[in-house]
Amino acid sequence: MVYVMEIEELLKRLSKSKFRGSFHLKAKDFLYIKDKGLPKIEEHAYDFINKRLKPKVILNDGKQTPYRGHPVFISQHATGTCCRSCLYKWHKIPKDKELTSDEVKYVVGVIMAWINKEIKLNGGNNGNISK
Ligand SMILES: [Zn+2]
Repeated sequence: MVYVMEIEELLKRLSKSKFRGSFHLKAKDFLYIKDKGLPKIEEHAYDFINKRLKPKVILNDGKQTPYRGHPVFISQHATGTCCRSCLYKWHKIPKDKELTSDEVKYVVGVIMAWINKEIKLNGGNNGNISK
């Protein structure tokens, strides 16, 4: 289940982590979001999480999330949803089990909340920046 207040608190804690707080979306990410639209970005997030995080056994766990190439990847590093170890550390979701659909929904909710926060920090501007 996604509780807005809890996610707010969580994002605050994450932004205070030196490593997690160092991730931010760049101009090209905002342009990409603007171009695709947030619903499409959320679709991509579901796709990545279902493929790379949901399975019980992930052979390259810890290395499955690139550091660039998609706003969702950046958000995953910023929110501790990049691999199952981080998911356990930050979100207390145990390893060695497949994620439930509620957990997948929660993870995507956190990822999208962070992206929305970045858009707000960018002046509510999801891509309308001078090229
Ligand atoms: Zn990780």
